[in-house]
Amino acid sequence: MAVRVRFAPSPTGPLHIGGVRTALYNYLFAKKLGGTFVLRIEDTDQNRYVDGAEAYIQNALAWLNISPDESPRNEGNYGPYRQSDRKSLYISNINKLVQSGKAYLAFDSPDELASLRSAAEANGETFIYNWQNRESLKNSLSLSEEETSALLKTSTPYVIRFKAFSKGSKELLKLNDVIRGNVDINTSLLDDKILVKQDGMPTYHLANVIDDHLMGISHVIRGEEWLPSMALHVLLYKAFGWDSPVFAHVPLILKPTGEGKLSKRDGSKFGFPVFPLTWDSNTPGFRESGYLPQALTNYIALLGWSPGGEKELFSLSELTNMFSLEAITKSGGRFDPERCKWFNQQYLQQVDSSLLVAVLEKEVKTNGVEKSDVDLTRVAKLIQNRLTLLTDVWQEANFFFIAPKDYDEKAVRKQWKDDTAKILSSVAELIDSADETTADTLGVLIKSYANDNGIGLGKIMAPLRIALVGSLRGPDVFEICSTIGVQNSISRINTAIKNLSV
Ligand code: GLU
Repeated sequence: MAVRVRFAPSPTGPLHIGGVRTALYNYLFAKKLGGTFVLRIEDTDQNRYVDGAEAYIQNALAWLNISPDESPRNEGNYGPYRQSDRKSLYISNINKLVQSGKAYLAFDSPDELASLRSAAEANGETFIYNWQNRESLKNSLSLSEEETSALLKTSTPYVIRFKAFSKGSKELLKLNDVIRGNVDINTSLLDDKILVKQDGMPTYHLANVIDDHLMGISHVIRGEEWLPSMALHVLLYKAFGWDSPVFAHVPLILKPTGEGKLSKRDGSKFGFPVFPLTWDSNTPGFRESGYLPQALTNYIALLGWSPGGEKELFSLSELTNMFSLEAITKSGGRFDPERCKWFNQQYLQQVDSSLLVAVLEKEVKTNGVEKSDVDLTRVAKLIQNRLTLLTDVWQEANFFFIAPKDYDEKAVRKQWKDDTAKILSSVAELIDSADETTADTLGVLIKSYANDNGIGLGKIMAPLRIALVGSLRGPDVFEICSTIGVQNSISRINTAIKNLSV
């Protein structure tokens, strides 16, 4: 059997990190088994449709390198890939179910149903449209053929419902889920779900099952929130006379506290992104917050799935090679923003410095640096292991391009002594007279000056750093000195002396 899996989001807003993980597991599973990863857009619910969400989903997957083999942007042989373009397929298939008596037309108006619901509630009961009462309600099973045609002739609105259970049929339905194991369902407890709405549009359940069948989907890997729908879906496959796909319901991603599902709002609440790309000013994305796609995919792959062993850093192809549905855990994975940052930091240390150079180029421009001879590649290499997020680049690198305008007061109070001006003037002269200005030669020069004059190295290094950077941060001070060059270094030293030695 050809392995074909699908990610089937509804375009109701930006894709949440839970959806990203579902897509990733589908992708890894398909790639591992040489199968096909399909993206299908489930946009039958026009009320929840949000403009731009479909493009967002496709852009997010592209950024994360979890690219579908077939999608609305890249159609294969099973199209269309958007449910709104597949309406005729739902109509023809539902008609077959109605003809075979497995689904029926229900004319009960929303008002009638509402009063049935409140009457039941008044008795402390719940109204369920099912085998126990369908014969007494207004539908094509309870009405005569003539009555039904008369209602159709007068264009009485109706929905189509699934006949989930009938008296005398087998009650126990055995379900199997790769992650959850076996679940037995008493089908007499199921309600007659609506398959086609009054507006003629299929509901999620109908469209989803028809599409999975017609698109040759072999494995349905989706979020745990769909587990309660599995019985209905399996019954629908049976009603159509089709084989069910294999099901795997992936556990939830939990809040950082471990309590409850990570929600779209948790991002702003806890101050970290939960969306791959920025959607609007209230929903910042991982990309814009400085995360690398490979760090994010690595981290979220491990939220609810474990390859075993100590190793934690895996490329997408390593993840693919090791992936199996059986190793997905039953319990939810807790989203830990600090762990996610740690992964990003690890990956940032491995990236080619050209990526950081590109960021630097942009930052230099946006921060209004007019002219600079500073070697960007050199700066990139010097700050690389100091970065946790790509957005840290400017914070770590700004002093290479811009001389300090003020100085960290606490550092100055502690490190700037009465003799500092004198010492730094000599250091400036030393730098000025150096034949070679690599970090190493400057280091040797300044260290031997300290030695020869009996000055503790700390009395030079900290004030020198304050003069060059404005505070005690940054990489090796001789590297900073050498990278910004002799002229810049001397002028910064002189400015600091002027400002700080009163
Ligand atoms: N459209 C559903 C969703 O938004 C898809 C569920 C499924 O994968 O069957 O999650």
